[in-house]
Amino acid sequence: MSEAAFNELRRVFNALLASGLASQNLADMLADRAFDLFEANIDAQTAHLPTLACAKGCPSCCALRVTATAPEIFLLARYARQIDQRMPATALGSLSRRIKLANRATRGLSETERMKLRQPCPFVVRGGCIIHPARPLACRGHASFDRRACAQAMAGREVDVPVSAPHVALRALVQDSLREALGAAGLASGLYELNQGLVLALDAPERERAWRDGQDSLAPARIEASTTAAQMDAVLWSRAAGDASIRDEVAAAEPGRQSPMA
Ligand code: SF4
Repeated sequence: MSEAAFNELRRVFNALLASGLASQNLADMLADRAFDLFEANIDAQTAHLPTLACAKGCPSCCALRVTATAPEIFLLARYARQIDQRMPATALGSLSRRIKLANRATRGLSETERMKLRQPCPFVVRGGCIIHPARPLACRGHASFDRRACAQAMAGREVDVPVSAPHVALRALVQDSLREALGAAGLASGLYELNQGLVLALDAPERERAWRDGQDSLAPARIEASTTAAQMDAVLWSRAAGDASIRDEVAAAEPGRQSPMA
């Protein structure tokens, strides 16, 4: 995927920010569009590849550290509140509480330490992701061709998990173009650890307003500071550039509202 594809996606986000900067729904609009852009392009990017091993009921990789942008985190915090309102605490044990407990267990741990801990993501319920249609870009971009290798890797064995390069590259492309547009609009464009970012957003909903006002209100959860597109995901981009199976064209998806519940 090329600079032209990146520029096309950045143009989409720039336009959305120009029209929606004053909207209190800005985070939802940006996150939804990012998810739509990923989903609108992934089938065409992967049509030539074997069938993925990923399927409902396999949360093997859902103990890995997840990073997300501020719009994704504010959107998911809203979903968590909605789910808590809809479902009795006995069914889920309160999703907000599960997120806080997960954060207590994982806060400050490196990716390697997280793999060893194997603390499941708080959104895993009965083996499935209960926010699957709204899962972060990081989760969308992680797709495997070998379920057994995933299980072995999560059990601590040193195995090469064959992952889909187009998923990795498209995630990087959408996420980087979003972050570049956020930075150009004067908004915090860092990457944040999901559990801690959600706790910050759940405990203090006013952080979303502060983010819209240009503050880095999720800074305590920040993993990667705001940066320029040229510096972002250099490894992922170069890997994608060397993969002849990755297509250059992208479709700029029209927005579509997603439901929080699968
Ligand atoms: S958000 Fe969903 S897909 Fe992502 S790690 Fe959590 S349970 Fe897995």
